[in-house]
Amino acid sequence: MTVGTTENPLRIAIVGAGPTGFYAAAHLLKQKKLTVQVDMYEALPAPFGLVRYGVAPDHQKIKSITKLYDRAAKNKNFHFFGNVRIGKDISVAELKEYYHQLMFTTGAPTDKPLRIPGEELEGSLPATEFVAWYNGHPDYADYKIDLSAKNVAIVGIGNVAMDVARILTRTTEELMDTDIAEHALQALKESKVENVYVLGRRGPAQAAFTTPEIKELGEMQDADCYVRPDEAELDPLSAADIKGDRKLERKVEIIQSYAGAETTGKAKKITVRFLVSPTELIGDENGHVKTMKIVKNELYINDKGVMRPRATDIVEEIPVDIVFRSIGYRGARIEGVPFYDAWGVNLNEEGRLLDEETKEPVVGLYTGGWIKRGPSGVIGTNKPDAVETVTHMLTDLADGKILQPANPTVDAAIAFVAERKSDYFTYADWQKLDALELANGKAAGRPRVKFTNVEEMKTAVGK
Ligand SMILES: Cc1cc2nc3c(=O)[nH]c(=O)nc-3n(C[C@H](O)[C@H](O)[C@H](O)COP(=O)(O)OP(=O)(O)OC[C@H]3O[C@@H](n4cnc5c(N)ncnc54)[C@H](O)[C@@H]3O)c2cc1C
Repeated sequence: MTVGTTENPLRIAIVGAGPTGFYAAAHLLKQKKLTVQVDMYEALPAPFGLVRYGVAPDHQKIKSITKLYDRAAKNKNFHFFGNVRIGKDISVAELKEYYHQLMFTTGAPTDKPLRIPGEELEGSLPATEFVAWYNGHPDYADYKIDLSAKNVAIVGIGNVAMDVARILTRTTEELMDTDIAEHALQALKESKVENVYVLGRRGPAQAAFTTPEIKELGEMQDADCYVRPDEAELDPLSAADIKGDRKLERKVEIIQSYAGAETTGKAKKITVRFLVSPTELIGDENGHVKTMKIVKNELYINDKGVMRPRATDIVEEIPVDIVFRSIGYRGARIEGVPFYDAWGVNLNEEGRLLDEETKEPVVGLYTGGWIKRGPSGVIGTNKPDAVETVTHMLTDLADGKILQPANPTVDAAIAFVAERKSDYFTYADWQKLDALELANGKAAGRPRVKFTNVEEMKTAVGK
């Protein structure tokens, strides 16, 4: 029987309710010549992935992108199964009983290590955990972080490092305008952090942060942004490299505007350092980080013609009480989904998953977003990425290369999930939770007060 008709719809499971999952769902559901049903599985009760649990709480405007995802969720052929972790609550093999195609859009939840001595010391932490904690991710509801520290270093110089630097130095007043988790708001109110160092291994011309992000550091209510004049200067290689690139030149100009700036008496200071790499973390007698050794780098062009940093013999020590590593997110393997460990992504070619042994496409299995291409790009980058995968899914359907599920109906899937995970969240449950969070926010004079604990979320929607 033809698959994709009203009588026999194309049944697709999307695993992961982040932006990529929603872009893929929207594209599938708008197909004119096919009847497609999308069931979305999400490990957490709430959808939206890193838009809810990654994007900084002081960037509320960006979070409003979720209105678009709500629109896709309204489609009668869309079903949401929140609070269901694939690979734990339900296996990939079990999903194959209910769907013609599976698409994994599970993001990149873990972090890359620095691989330097002392990294295991207390106070040396992945930025991923801090970000998840201040955004109220349920897995970090009981996370403890000691903010009686004075000096914090963030290793890495991308937008995530910028987010962490801002959140650490915002005033309580500024944070009240955000949906930062209540536990983080209280902890940051008591914070003793004064100095935040952001460390980049290359120069101003190569910094990964965007222009608006570095500009924002100069507009903080009670924190100054500072760059050392010698580090703001471009080396001849970089100067030649960016010449005529207005966007990059503008970014460098902003960085240089912070160089040697007088402090204005603000309580906190963010120092952005360039061309430095940490080489060792040194602890105190209690095994807590106290100093960071850094080495000055210089840039050179390698034999492939790429500009790279290399260590000089100039070393320095800076006092640090907390070190956040922020050098990239990394995907995690799900049992039954081909994975390429070296890159921390699902093994795929343009979204078609490949067998780990034969490297041939695996029938019916696909991927998209950060777990497909790695942690790069903005939210919108995931749209063309999802569309690329969906295009291949539709080609494969036309070629008859789909799974042969035993129970390809919505009712069968709902019955199965209800039996396996009776406390799963429907989209209506999420919308109820959403309305409660907004109402609690209104009462507190904030945009939203998040639920941060799965049990509380369940109670709130009557589960
Ligand atoms: C700290 C931070 C700040 C950012 N700020 C911005 C910004 O300001 N602007 C911007 O444009 N972009 C920003 N980004 C980038 C943006 O968030 C990503 O591009 C985007 O979220 C990636 O989408 P995704 O759907 O691939 O993954 P994710 O958003 O990570 O979504 C993956 C989803 O899969 C779920 N999942 C994982 N495993 C399972 C499983 N086994 N079973 C079921 N569900 C599972 C997760 O819970 C999650 O909901 C930021 C990223 C980070 C990390």
